Amino acid sequence: MSLKIINPATEELIKEVPTDTKDTLKHKFDSLRAALPAWKKTSVRDRILMMSKFADLLRENKDRLAQILSDEMGKPLNEALGEIKASAVKTQFFLQESEKHLRKEKVNHDGSTEEYIAYEPLGVIANISAWNYPYLVGVNIFVPALICGNAVFYKPSEFSTLTGIEIEKLLIEAGFPSSIFQLAIGAKEVGQALLELPLDGYFFTGSYATGKHIATTVAPKLVPVGLELGGKDPLYVTDQVISLKETAESALSGAFYNNGQSCCSVERIYVHEKVYDEFLGHFLEAASKLKVGNPNEKGITQGAISRFEHLNYLQNQVTDATSKGAKLELGGKIIKGPGYFFEPTVLTNVNHQMDVMKEESFGPIIGIQKVVNDEEAIKLMNDTDYGLTASVYTSKRNRGEEIMEQIDAGTCYLNCCDRVSGYTPWSGRKNSGLGMTLSFHGIFTFVKPKALHLRQQH
Ligand code: NAD
Repeated sequence: MSLKIINPATEELIKEVPTDTKDTLKHKFDSLRAALPAWKKTSVRDRILMMSKFADLLRENKDRLAQILSDEMGKPLNEALGEIKASAVKTQFFLQESEKHLRKEKVNHDGSTEEYIAYEPLGVIANISAWNYPYLVGVNIFVPALICGNAVFYKPSEFSTLTGIEIEKLLIEAGFPSSIFQLAIGAKEVGQALLELPLDGYFFTGSYATGKHIATTVAPKLVPVGLELGGKDPLYVTDQVISLKETAESALSGAFYNNGQSCCSVERIYVHEKVYDEFLGHFLEAASKLKVGNPNEKGITQGAISRFEHLNYLQNQVTDATSKGAKLELGGKIIKGPGYFFEPTVLTNVNHQMDVMKEESFGPIIGIQKVVNDEEAIKLMNDTDYGLTASVYTSKRNRGEEIMEQIDAGTCYLNCCDRVSGYTPWSGRKNSGLGMTLSFHGIFTFVKPKALHLRQQH
């Protein structure tokens, strides 16, 4: 069996890659398990040195890696380059902070007994990954997992397999033993086969539907499960912003960067009625300058949609909205091939009866809704099954913070959007996920604490 890697911008076959079978997966699992005891004995410092080398290799190879990524998933070359550089930066947090957090710590002295907390790796874990930012979302998981001493079974998405193969090569070049990071190559069936193996933890990035399936399937194993899932992230523009033009440009970037194929893309915008018309004018002006086309060409802001089937999904969201009274301000159609392209699309006169305001679009579509006050904005922002991120734009910090306190999302932004930092926890609420990555919380995700009560014999 093999996996056909298709360039979504040209529909050309890039490569065919042999896929794993249940037998090869079992063999790889056995070698991960066998390598674990020696790997656990390496020091955190040595693992950090290897990871630091990996980050250097990402930087050194960035042009080549960016081309591979852009070719297989369709994002503009400069965005692919930006992702790789940002991944190396994001890795810094774990390089700087892991050792201090993983150190055995004396927490109490109770008479003749010393009490410690020590940390041990989970074991052999699965990292089942997505294609939209394979480097950035990988850094959330395999980087801390390896530093913590786990062996990692990494399943790249079938839409970013070549990138997964490059990641493995660079990790080995950086000094990681080949047996502690193994690839599971293939699509859904290969992911499903990983669920049947006796892994010690499952860490997944992808859609709510798959995440729920994974969590429920592996539940009887009683092992840790981490889910980084989708979002329907809102952005609210209050009537107190210093520049509506800058606000509109920032919101536009949040909605359309990576063709809207980001878990924390801005997926719906609410604008205070006092500034609505002016905001919309600026937004449409900026949106009309977006350029769709060959991801290799300079000046292209919108590359290809990565998955062919998603074109119809996007078209259906537009049709659903317009049939219920939405106004199509811009775009709205699949662009004729070759390649999978969709016009940057702006809908107004939208409401929460429409899929475009409730279901994740994961594409270059945005709905903009007018609101009368903060109360209505907060109600609408929370009217969702998801809870990944939310943004508020206002020059009044107190007003912004008060609004953010009332939003049920793992991350809130004031006057910015669509950003992730290694220093803050990344977690989704409701259907956006389970567990946490990044920050010191995202180190502890990959270890088991052990309580030690030590009494000296006299
Ligand atoms: P997906 O759920 O279709 O696939 C994700 C991975 O799961 C792929 O590797 C796929 O092969 C595998 N898979 C599919 N079925 C499986 C099964 N039955 N058992 C085991 N594995 C299986 O998601 P996608 O299209 O790759 O990614 C898009 C989604 O990911 C969006 O919803 C997006 O918001 C979300 N996402 C979330 C984050 C986050 O940090 N919260 C980051 C990136 C993407």
